[in-house]
Amino acid sequence: MANPGHDIGIDFSLTDEQALLRDEVRRFAEERIRPGLDERDRRHEFPAAILRQMGELGLLGMMVGEEYGGAGLDAVSYVVVVEEIARVCPSVAVTMSVTNSVCCWPIDHFAGAELKREVLPQLTSGGSLGGFGLTEPGAGSDAGSLRTTARRDGDEWILNGEKAWITNAGVGDFFVVFARTREAPGHRGLSAFVVPASAPGFSVGEPEEKLGLRASNTAPLILEDCRVPASNLLGQEGGGFRIALATLDHSRLGIAAQSVGIHQRALELAREYARERVQFGRPIAEHQSIRFKLAEMATELAAARLLTHRAAALSSRSEAAVGKWAAEAKLWASEAANRACAQALQIHGGNGFHVDYEISRLYRDVRVTTIYEGTSEMQRLVIARHLLA
Ligand SMILES: Cc1cc2nc3c(=O)[nH]c(=O)nc-3n(C[C@H](O)[C@H](O)[C@H](O)COP(=O)(O)OP(=O)(O)OC[C@H]3O[C@@H](n4cnc5c(N)ncnc54)[C@H](O)[C@@H]3O)c2cc1C
Repeated sequence: MANPGHDIGIDFSLTDEQALLRDEVRRFAEERIRPGLDERDRRHEFPAAILRQMGELGLLGMMVGEEYGGAGLDAVSYVVVVEEIARVCPSVAVTMSVTNSVCCWPIDHFAGAELKREVLPQLTSGGSLGGFGLTEPGAGSDAGSLRTTARRDGDEWILNGEKAWITNAGVGDFFVVFARTREAPGHRGLSAFVVPASAPGFSVGEPEEKLGLRASNTAPLILEDCRVPASNLLGQEGGGFRIALATLDHSRLGIAAQSVGIHQRALELAREYARERVQFGRPIAEHQSIRFKLAEMATELAAARLLTHRAAALSSRSEAAVGKWAAEAKLWASEAANRACAQALQIHGGNGFHVDYEISRLYRDVRVTTIYEGTSEMQRLVIARHLLA
């Protein structure tokens, strides 16, 4: 990068098609996802029927080409859709974004033609959900230290190990799983595989009881002599770490967009409440300190959305720099959304602490955005690495 901080200038306006898609998805989210939302959250209930319908609408393979049943859309359309879904239900947003970004994307970019033909149409049609198995109990930020192994046996690979915190475990049908295929230090010797949930030796552990995102499924994956065909290897043997990094570079756009959607809703709720709640004889919105909070939330939201759209718009232009742009977007958008939810809850006073108020759920749901797909600390490391390269 010749001049750090001076990236390519772009036009941030949505095309007519993107704006139409945004409006349609906003309507879908309000009419189809919002009803029953609190109940599903309380009961930790996964909304399978809603996800099936989203698949039929083309929202689960958004960037996959039409030859594999995908919608063939661009990354800006994708972030616009994730934002609209997350504004209503961050749990549904992560379920769809994981299927799109960390499952379909690496399969689309690194699988052989036959594997693509077999797996992608199932994911893009809404019949199946996908996931990504990188994290292990002993390997989180330091993913290169993972211990799951894969051993070649004739025409198959045999995988052994345990993956932790896997979104869509228990509801997903295909997982992109990372394993060590040879003894080599750190990230060298890692390979990526497509593992169907129907593979012999594949099972799912007890679902995690989470602070937020309770209508999404998260559980360990257990691989005990789990056999997959040799052709389920993605890319080259030993090239898994590169695939993991490239995938996360792109997928972080989805978490940035999820954060923007949550932030947007937090601002709407705070503004509404501030106008209605009367204290000291006037709506609290007339107190300067409340107005300043709203102004800060709105300004930080605008910056988050611009960074996210910029990273999405540029993602097809430079593989080398997308990691930095997506990390900047994810870092800022997730941290800003956490600040916004805290401020919005503060504006709600005691009511914000009550489960009947939507902001209390958003406050829980937003917390993970600075953690998964790389913590904020890891995003800073990625950005610094690009700056100093
Ligand atoms: C709801 C949820 C869903 C998830 N879904 C998936 C999924 O689908 N697939 C998957 O593979 N994983 C998934 N994860 C795992 C997630 O990606 C990890 O939790 C995340 O990468 C952090 O790893 P860790 O939890 O082991 O934390 P650790 O790596 O143990 O980090 C603990 C703390 O130390 C900090 N830290 C660590 N190393 C450094 C360093 N070098 N410098 C500075 N600070 C450092 C971290 O930033 C963090 O604050 C999910 C997690 C959650 C909570």
